[in-house]
Amino acid sequence: MLPSTIDESGGASPRQHLLSIIIDDRVAIDAGSLAFSCTDRQRSQIRDIVLSHTHLDHIAGLPMFIDDLFATLTEPICIHATRQMIETLERDVFNWSIYPRFSELSNHNTSVVEYREYERGGKFDVKHLKIQSVPVNHQVNASGFIISDNGGSVAISGDTAETDDFWTVCNSIRDLRAVLVECAFPNELADLASVSYHLTPARLKREIEKLENSGCPVFVINIKPMYRSQVVEQIAAARLPKVEILEVGKVYEW
Ligand SMILES: [Zn+2]
Repeated sequence: MLPSTIDESGGASPRQHLLSIIIDDRVAIDAGSLAFSCTDRQRSQIRDIVLSHTHLDHIAGLPMFIDDLFATLTEPICIHATRQMIETLERDVFNWSIYPRFSELSNHNTSVVEYREYERGGKFDVKHLKIQSVPVNHQVNASGFIISDNGGSVAISGDTAETDDFWTVCNSIRDLRAVLVECAFPNELADLASVSYHLTPARLKREIEKLENSGCPVFVINIKPMYRSQVVEQIAAARLPKVEILEVGKVYEW
């Protein structure tokens, strides 16, 4: 998970405004901080970006990531998204007012951006990965993902409130190595979590109880930075086995 803020020494801070998860330095899941905190190696290799939904904290780095690479690309950047997300990006972001419509532009080598449409709930391939979209319960249409290679599968909830489908699909995956699930707000802000379709630690506990594979580690992502310490304390107090906070900037091998 890429950092999105810095601490007082200028290094990466765990406060997470923006979400981007990089797999094998080649595929990005969401593009919140993609342009701002990816490594040069990641910038030179990532040409596939899979979007869970179009909320700004998941796409903020997308325009700048494309902009950085515009002149040097030798193949297009592929944005994997649903039809509805593509229409939103073209209408509200790449509309020449907010930023250029890169999908209509080429450099001297190649077109710059290609959209690859996936069906919400469908399966698709991205580079060496097989990805299954799972509809989740958010304020806009959003997907969680089951991401698999030959070594196993990892589930990522993206932004979601209470949902059954995501856990049902997780329970059907034999080689599930890890589940990444959001927990945006502390218990005191349950009402805000409800209207914005996010989880609290108390609700996260009930969600995790739906996971039948009790040996599978669960990592918490998408904690609102203003409430991070409260959420972390409440998750610790719930004494959930196999649950930890996903650390920004740390390489995980599953
Ligand atoms: Zn969202």
